[in-house]
Amino acid sequence: MQAFNYETPSSLAAAAAAAQASGAKIIAGGQSLLGSMKLGLAAPEALVDLAGVAELKGITVSGGTVKIGAMTTHAEVAASADVAKAIPALAALAGNIGDRQVRNRGTIGGSLANNDPAACYPAAVLGLGATIHTQSSQGPRTIAADSFFKGLYETALAEGEVITAVSFPVPEKAAWQKFKQPASRFSLVGVFVSKGPQGVRVAVTGAGASVFRAGTLEAKLAGSWSADALKGATVGADGLNTDLHGSAEYRAALIPVLAGRAVAAS
Ligand SMILES: Cc1cc2nc3c(=O)[nH]c(=O)nc-3n(C[C@H](O)[C@H](O)[C@H](O)COP(=O)(O)OP(=O)(O)OC[C@H]3O[C@@H](n4cnc5c(N)ncnc54)[C@H](O)[C@@H]3O)c2cc1C
Repeated sequence: MQAFNYETPSSLAAAAAAAQASGAKIIAGGQSLLGSMKLGLAAPEALVDLAGVAELKGITVSGGTVKIGAMTTHAEVAASADVAKAIPALAALAGNIGDRQVRNRGTIGGSLANNDPAACYPAAVLGLGATIHTQSSQGPRTIAADSFFKGLYETALAEGEVITAVSFPVPEKAAWQKFKQPASRFSLVGVFVSKGPQGVRVAVTGAGASVFRAGTLEAKLAGSWSADALKGATVGADGLNTDLHGSAEYRAALIPVLAGRAVAAS
């Protein structure tokens, strides 16, 4: 470990100001960042810990929207009766992330900012057409899911911009299917499907450099929301990931299968 300053702001304004400093990095639950620091892949000069910022915690449901604060842990989302009632697929997704330790420390804001290619939350955010709320020295802004995920570990966030919350529109139907890589418990491929105010959406994680929408499957489901509509559907393997756990072709084959299972379960 290299030496670094450790800052503990207690308000969003103070956190956003501290995060703007050169060499500073936000820390949420540390479930990705601490691993990167131990491996020498990140060496921030200052860590800005969001744990003491009360404005970033909690879940509210109103007017057909579920709003989740950035520092809300996966365990809290999984255990929320409000989330389970409004968007059960989202509670199920949170409850299947990693293991208990990861779910008790990891946060929705950290997961989205990190944009790991196999992370679960990006699939729900893109698959439900959610909105990401942020704060920076430029003030607050909102970013639509379709514009947020830019590539491998890359997002639309500016340097030091803090995710404050995520708003999910309540869908008519939604479901999540995760084909786990058994050692890490991340998605080898994960598919989130929904039908609702943001149209018909099929979001895929684990298969490419970043989460993406499967347009051909969405078109078939827009015609008929049924697993049968996806029978015989294919997704091209071009540009998908190949690693020791599975080839691009294997991942491509899993996508319509998991989407069909998700629709059947929705
Ligand atoms: C063993 C293991 C298994 C896992 N399995 C899964 C899995 O199955 N599915 C899955 O989706 N994830 C999985 N994860 C990841 C985990 O879910 C965490 O959500 C993720 O690592 C982010 O962690 P964190 O919230 O603690 O953020 P941190 O590690 O603290 O931060 C991650 C990054 O986000 C930035 N950041 C954090 N919060 C904010 C914010 N509010 N605004 C702006 N930037 C911010 C940080 O600067 C850093 O760059 C796993 C992790 C581990 C260690």
